Parts: sequence; C-alpha cells; structure tokens
Amino acid sequence: MRILVTGAAGFLGSHLCDRLIALGHSVVGMDNLITGNPKNVAHLTRHPAVTWIEQDVSRFIAVDGPLDGVLHFASPASPVDYLKFPIQTLKVGALGTHNALGLAKAKRARFLLASTSEVYGDPQEHPQSEAYWGHVNPIGPRGVYDEAKRFAEALTMAYHRSHGLDTRIVRIFNTYGPRMRPHDGRVVSNLIVQALRGEPLTVYGDGSQTRSFCYVDDLIQGVVLAFERAGWDPVNLGNPGEFTVRELADLVLGLTGSSSRVVFQPLPVDDPKQRRPDISRAKRVLGWEPTVNLEDGLRRTIAYFRELAA
Ligand code: UDP
Repeated sequence: MRILVTGAAGFLGSHLCDRLIALGHSVVGMDNLITGNPKNVAHLTRHPAVTWIEQDVSRFIAVDGPLDGVLHFASPASPVDYLKFPIQTLKVGALGTHNALGLAKAKRARFLLASTSEVYGDPQEHPQSEAYWGHVNPIGPRGVYDEAKRFAEALTMAYHRSHGLDTRIVRIFNTYGPRMRPHDGRVVSNLIVQALRGEPLTVYGDGSQTRSFCYVDDLIQGVVLAFERAGWDPVNLGNPGEFTVRELADLVLGLTGSSSRVVFQPLPVDDPKQRRPDISRAKRVLGWEPTVNLEDGLRRTIAYFRELAA
C-alpha cells in the first residue's frame, strides 16, 4: 500500500513510518517540523519507499499519485507544546483533520485518526472505556488539545456517515520510548533526563495522580492492527498498568541509579487526577494488548537518553 503519515517526523509518526516500511508499504511522510524532529527520520530520508513533504497539514495539502491510507498523526501532543502553540493545535485538529479527510476521500483511501485519552479530560469514570463521553473543560489551557481532538473525532465520524469513508479512530494513552525529545515536557522524558543529569526530579502536585504508560513499540503495533482490522468505532490503545507519578519517579531513580532528589512543583491547571484505559475492545477486535512492562520499557528509554547525552 501507499500510505500518507501526517506528523511523520514526530515521536509516534516516525516509529509508525518505520513499521509501515518494514511491512513492505511505501510511505509519504508529511510534517511541518514545529514539534517534529528531522533526526527521527534522518535514516529514512533516502529510503526508496519514502517520499517527504515538508508542509503544514492545516493548509491545503496535495499529494501526487494514489494513496491507500491516510494516518493523521500531526499535532503538538505534549502539554508544554500545546500551551506554546494553542492556535496551531486547534488548527491541526480542525483544519488539518479536514484536509486529511478530504484527501482520503479524494483518493478513496482508508483514514485513521490519532486521537487521545485527553478526549476523556479529567475522567469521572475509571478506568475509561470508549463508551465514556468525557469530562473536559473547553476553556481551560488544555482545552485547545482536548477539544481539537474531540472535534477531529466528530469530523471523522461525519465523513464516515456522510461520505461512506472507511475510517478508524484510535484513542492513544500516554506513550513513551526512544525519540521522545529531552525537552518534550512529558513526565517520562523529564524525569529520565533529570535523573541522568543529577538534577532534581520535578513531580507536579503531590505525585498521587496516576497515568498508564505504554511502550512505543506496543502502541505502534496496536495502531497498525487498528488500521488493518478495526471498525469505525474508537478503540483505546494504551497499557492498563497504572502508576502514580511518585511511583514513576522512584522507578526512574532506581533504574538510573541516580541520587537526584524529588522536588514538588505546582500541578498544572486541569491536570487529570487519574487515567487508565479499558482495553477490552482492543483485545476483542484487534487481538492486541501491550507486552512490554514499565520497567523494561523504561530501561530501553533510559538507554536511548544515555546515548543521546553521550
Ligand atoms: N508531571 C510531573 N513532572 C513533570 C512532568 C509532568 O509530575 O516533570 C506530571 C503531570 O502533571 C501529569 C503527569 O505527570 O500529572 C503526566 O504528564 P504528561 O505531561 O507526561 O502527560 P499528560 O498525561 O498530563 O498529558
């Protein structure tokens, strides 16, 4: 197949490109590089199965030749990024998704939206299944990402219902692994980088908030299976193992052997108190569940950041 990946130079987009190429597909990679990193795909720039387009998907996009699939991964995705680029975040979720859907329709391609656990906001149901409608503050600082992705889901469903487009929606929970940026701002990369530098580990709030962390290889496997065999219903993809941020900090300290101390900083506005995916649907429909536990995944991620710093 010939597949367009938007956000191809990002953390997830670049791993996705690697996997699609390994499966024998050819890839058109699109990115405007506002949060993507060309180094993530430097090994692919001359690959015969890859075409690169440096472009903002929020503006009209044109791709020559046929396409069988459009996987829409472009968006700032870290809280620090979507706070820095709030309007771009809203635009890529809205206009970018519209353009990507329009292109998929014109090419008669299958469309997959990379949505997010943030559509559940600060959830009042736990764990979160796809049937939960969410608890989002539309005017809070995180609203730019949450509402953009909620709109993107609505638009995807509208294209499915009105145009019969073959669509998929995956709701991606916290994911970590190699190619996260050292200054990405997310908890796993922050804590690892701080521990390796001997700097204090910044835990926001009292560290009792929970997250469920999925290793990137597992996540990408879920995305590929969803593209191949999911229906139009949204599917949660994440690792149901749930940890407090404080537990994560202790794990990182243990695995890095760092003697950094932990410092507590204010909790960001609207920071969700708990998050854990119910992955029953992914298990049933995709035959998928994560295989890499947090300790193993952290070891691999720490190795990556050590090498990056060397
Ligand atoms: N967090 C933290 N220290 C950091 C960065 C994040 O304690 O240096 C917390 C953050 O407040 C949140 C959790 O870790 O409760 C996960 O944050 P992240 O930005 O990774 O992703 P989110 O799930 O909030 O989108």
